[in-house]
Amino acid sequence: MSDHYVKAKVQLEQMKNLGQDHGDGDQELVSPPSPSVSPSTPNTPTSTDPSITTSSTIPSKYRGRSRGKLFKDNTLTHISAANAERNLNQLGYELTLNIKGTGKILEGKSEPNGNYVKSGVSKSFQETRFEDGVKTGRKRRPVTVDTSKAKTSLEALKISIKQLKWKEFPLGRRAACDIYWHGVSFHDNENIVSGQVNKFPGMVEMLRKINMSRAVRTMQDIFPEEYDFYPRSWILPDEYQQFSTQIRMVKENDSTVNPTFIVKPDGGSQGDGIYLIRDPSDLKLVSGSHAKQGVVQEYIQKPLLIDKLKFDIRLYVLIKSLEPLEIYIAKEGLTRFCTEPYQEPSQKNLSHVFMHLTNYSLNVHSENFVHSDSQNTGSKRTLSSVLYRLAAKGVDIKRVWSDIIALVIKTTIAVVPELKVYYQADIPPGKPGPTCFQILGFDILLMKNLKPVLLEVNSNPSMRIEHEQEMTPGVFEYVPSPVDEEVKVGVIRDTLRLMDPGQKKTTISQSKPGVLDVTPLDAESQEKSPEESVALPSLCLKQVYPKYAKQFNHLRLVERISSLFIRFLGVKGNMRLGPTAFRTFIRTCKLSNTNFTMASVDILYIDITRRWSGAAADVREAGMGLQAFVEAFFNLAGRRFKSLPLKEQAAAMLDLCEAQLDPQPASEDRRSLSCGRAPPRTVRSQTGYLANNTHINSPTPTRRASSQDQRLHHRLKPHPLRSNVEN
Ligand code: ADP
Repeated sequence: MSDHYVKAKVQLEQMKNLGQDHGDGDQELVSPPSPSVSPSTPNTPTSTDPSITTSSTIPSKYRGRSRGKLFKDNTLTHISAANAERNLNQLGYELTLNIKGTGKILEGKSEPNGNYVKSGVSKSFQETRFEDGVKTGRKRRPVTVDTSKAKTSLEALKISIKQLKWKEFPLGRRAACDIYWHGVSFHDNENIVSGQVNKFPGMVEMLRKINMSRAVRTMQDIFPEEYDFYPRSWILPDEYQQFSTQIRMVKENDSTVNPTFIVKPDGGSQGDGIYLIRDPSDLKLVSGSHAKQGVVQEYIQKPLLIDKLKFDIRLYVLIKSLEPLEIYIAKEGLTRFCTEPYQEPSQKNLSHVFMHLTNYSLNVHSENFVHSDSQNTGSKRTLSSVLYRLAAKGVDIKRVWSDIIALVIKTTIAVVPELKVYYQADIPPGKPGPTCFQILGFDILLMKNLKPVLLEVNSNPSMRIEHEQEMTPGVFEYVPSPVDEEVKVGVIRDTLRLMDPGQKKTTISQSKPGVLDVTPLDAESQEKSPEESVALPSLCLKQVYPKYAKQFNHLRLVERISSLFIRFLGVKGNMRLGPTAFRTFIRTCKLSNTNFTMASVDILYIDITRRWSGAAADVREAGMGLQAFVEAFFNLAGRRFKSLPLKEQAAAMLDLCEAQLDPQPASEDRRSLSCGRAPPRTVRSQTGYLANNTHINSPTPTRRASSQDQRLHHRLKPHPLRSNVEN
């Protein structure tokens, strides 16, 4: 257990002894839980039962519209002196613990999210001491933020920095800043060696449609039921044959089935280049002399409708750290509505983008688009307004929200293994560099049966808080968009608060398995510094991982494979395994024998690498990437543990390899492997499978291909309709 965890645990114990209900660890997660009631603090209105709530009971923080409204809100300023004093005492106590326990970072120590801190104490702030709740120390130096590369996030970022009373450097700064806010990618500013950057290396690449589909598919191969929230997808052009054969077979088997598919270009966004088809022959596979890269995906034909319109949810998710994995979800999001009433796809309406695509960037050009200052009307609404509306119709929105959280955690778990490969290549362990965090935009569709479906994840979600409006014909102006501002400023400001270098480390607590007991619309009591407790609303970002780790940790198998992969990469900055390194892996893990000679190992390497090199869009280096290695790993596991299902094969193989690599006590944290800035160590897992002595036989077809074929006719299983909703 790392220091961080030990300190957090001690802190939690002490708080419990003082009779403070932290509200995380002791929740009863039985399905479905009664709505949680947050302790009523001056600035955290008591939560209400969402199923009986009407719009008038929406916490006022969701109602504020104009800039700076949160500070003027009565609920925030009417604090009784007694309450304020009590809060300050409590918070002062927490902060003292924090400074004693977690505030100082010793020289050369690696931080939990991978940073390597050189100085004795985090120098980003001057320590403020509290004794018995009384402020005795110097004033904190404001946190510095380089906003020179913020691009379209700039406006929301400026407001956030102002609210926090931090210091903005709009033109950059010669000295290091605490936080660098990038508009596009990790590499917007080069040569950052300290502080924190709001992008992870490789996130843009990882979330492109092809990579994302592959990563989720790997998880679908191992955990088909857990990952049934992502529509069946085929990679173009590589899997065109597979796609057309499968569709032909489906139609031959049942002539009443007439599925529709949506085709998406790989690097596309905002609906660009997207079209619907009903027959594989309608695919446009080439552009000029180039094969078009993209995905073709099962089209969800029965979405949930409101006002007869299709809509999707934009949810903001903060990846606070990769190691340990920390995920936060914004309790408020946006919903984007189509502008033409929905009809199930037919040959006639396939090209009606205002009916089928929810992209704001497309629908804003429809004459039906409604810009509204209200959050619960118009073509862009807050998520809470939609959830209240559904709750009023009897929908179990707690269940919906719980499913959405599970989708977010599972999707993140699917992309983390490859992100770790990118991370170690850009910021190798032991070298100075920044730490990273990132706000992602999850696009989620609710099916008619209320099951959430993942459409895509945006590495660079729009943080614009104004929209273009045609003032007079042909003359456009940017005008403030209250709905965007309400949601996005909150997300950016609270991300900054969570990343505050002077803030105590997050207390990590885990819940019991069951339904995820998070209410989307409540205002929960959150930890805040004394300064913040007076001025700022409670955090709109809610930790979901590691809070719900117990329910999801079993899914982190590929991450363990990725740790093996990283261990054998060797050269710093490398992302691909050469043939020698692959041989070393086989030898070290003792995976070859008389039935599976090193010559067979070489053949396996060449076979898989060649196939994946042909498949990848932008392969510039030779060698075996992570996805290819995962396939090789499954292949090896399939030979050795023939009789087991894939997930157990993989787990058993991991146990075998990890035992060979690092015969350390099983209690050690295996996840300290890859993203820490200290040299990687492998630790044995606890899955309990013993390697049997089954000899490796002659090559079998690759596991990935066969398991995919098994899923050929597997459709997204509709959940029972939970309520009577409009469609
Ligand atoms: P882009 O990055 O170009 O916005 P998306 O994957 O988000 O691409 O798709 C654009 C829109 O198409 C979505 O907002 C959604 O309305 C619709 N859409 C995408 N995938 C599906 C699907 N599988 N089923 C139904 N509608 C979809």
